[in-house]
Amino acid sequence: MDRMKKKKVIVIGAGFSGISAATVLAEKGYDVHVLEKNAEPGGRARVFREGGFVFDMGPSWYWMPDVFETYFGKFGKKPSDYYELKRLDPSYSVILSESEVIDIPADLEGIKTLFESYEEGASSQLDKFLKQAAYKYRVGIQDFVWRPSVKITEFLSVKLLIDAIRMDVFSSFYKHIRKFFKSSTLLKLMEFPILFLGAISQNTPAMYSLMNFAEITMGTWYPMGGMHQIVNGMVALAEEKHVKFTYNTEVTGFEIVNKHVRAVKTAKGLIEADMVVASADYHWVEKLLGDDFRNYSEEYWDKRVMAPSSLLFYLGISKRLPKLKHHNLFFDRDFSVHSHEIYTDPSWPSDPLFYASAPSVTDPSVAPEGCENVFLLIPVAPDLEDTDVQREKYFHQLMDRLEAYCGENIRDSIVYKRSYAHQDFMSDYHAFKGNAYGLANTLFQTAILKPSLKNKKLDNLYYTGQLTVPGPGVPPSLISGLVVANEVDKSLRK
Ligand SMILES: Cc1cc2nc3c(=O)[nH]c(=O)nc-3n(C[C@H](O)[C@H](O)[C@H](O)COP(=O)(O)OP(=O)(O)OC[C@H]3O[C@@H](n4cnc5c(N)ncnc54)[C@H](O)[C@@H]3O)c2cc1C
Repeated sequence: MDRMKKKKVIVIGAGFSGISAATVLAEKGYDVHVLEKNAEPGGRARVFREGGFVFDMGPSWYWMPDVFETYFGKFGKKPSDYYELKRLDPSYSVILSESEVIDIPADLEGIKTLFESYEEGASSQLDKFLKQAAYKYRVGIQDFVWRPSVKITEFLSVKLLIDAIRMDVFSSFYKHIRKFFKSSTLLKLMEFPILFLGAISQNTPAMYSLMNFAEITMGTWYPMGGMHQIVNGMVALAEEKHVKFTYNTEVTGFEIVNKHVRAVKTAKGLIEADMVVASADYHWVEKLLGDDFRNYSEEYWDKRVMAPSSLLFYLGISKRLPKLKHHNLFFDRDFSVHSHEIYTDPSWPSDPLFYASAPSVTDPSVAPEGCENVFLLIPVAPDLEDTDVQREKYFHQLMDRLEAYCGENIRDSIVYKRSYAHQDFMSDYHAFKGNAYGLANTLFQTAILKPSLKNKKLDNLYYTGQLTVPGPGVPPSLISGLVVANEVDKSLRK
């Protein structure tokens, strides 16, 4: 089709959701232009390089490989056309204390043996749990997450109500998992994947045991070169479909005529559009729209349960750290205290759990020879006062624990160090309250109860990304882009 006659879609933001929406719309024949405020694509999954180290800035866990296959498969491609995946074994390590470390095996039989060693009968309980979780994964990933959740009628069917009950939408993961296991260690292991949803297990619908199913049966993977290889692959595919990307271009407002966005404003001038898809942080887009055209008030946003923010450290170490695995979860402190400090009484944690990733254990290309690439993450409440002094305090807390665990001095071998927290999330992504992962997946923030992907006052503005359906995480953000693209296409065809 002649490019001049194509309807023009502007996508704001080049994160997973924006690239995904842009690619589908280009495939459907629209003229798609992505405007990104930063200098490169990826959003929260950007990358930076320093002194031979290659640091993925955000996601490090590659779960649900089937979602990536579905994504690339929509365009007749496979992930392996763009990047090489490696399955990790062990999937990850859980450090319960200096003397108790559990390596989670990649194979199910290994996991069952491990479970049995903690609780008699736990292996067959795991089978029962996984059988139910398999159903939830099937219905959740093949049906629920694809619903745009724009109208309540999407959810009014007897089959869906039966599915919802069987999916355990209305009971908590906390109660659900305790029907299967008693061992506090097994409960800790099974509640870990729920942390990805940004809420504690008491507030997370049991339906999300689908996360355990994905983790245990489908495995933990790593794209060689780093997580940003997914972004590179998606951008390459988008460009094959003639999506145009313009970086260093921030959308600063909208020109609205008769409840219709005529153009978006940028420092370089107005850019006209027939349709706008905003994948930038939802709340920020609402601010740009102003009171007349936003979907939700500030009070609404203030009442949302946000997923945590993070305090991150990117470290280049001039030696190898043989004790570290690729993924290391330091669960050697009381999570109930830490989670209280995230959700109930938002404050800097007194003695946090943390996560250490060392992708150089798997991938020599992300660190100079003989060196380790280390990424540390502490989940923290959003909207905290974030100062250099505070960051430094936690850096030393973490180093004390990491050095004790590794049994060697690490601080003296740090050749590169960068910290990242609320202030950076706000300045880099306009993140509401400096959030890292958007909205928590609580029952009251699921499906139709999430911020809508359609602007209700303007006829040509849609939202996508981790603050709308289906939720936070790389696979959901990809799906969000696909779902919104279908809604946009329907609207443009009317
Ligand atoms: C530290 C961290 C670790 C994570 N770990 C994992 C993990 O291991 N596994 C996993 O699955 N998920 C993980 N996640 C979550 C996952 O990265 C996100 O859910 C996902 O990347 C969000 O994609 P998105 O497209 O919704 O938003 P974003 O990635 O934020 O993309 C939005 C884009 O919009 C741009 N933008 C904002 N405002 C404007 C504007 N006005 N004009 C133009 N552009 C604008 C931003 O620069 C950004 O590029 C992690 C996230 C973080 C932060």
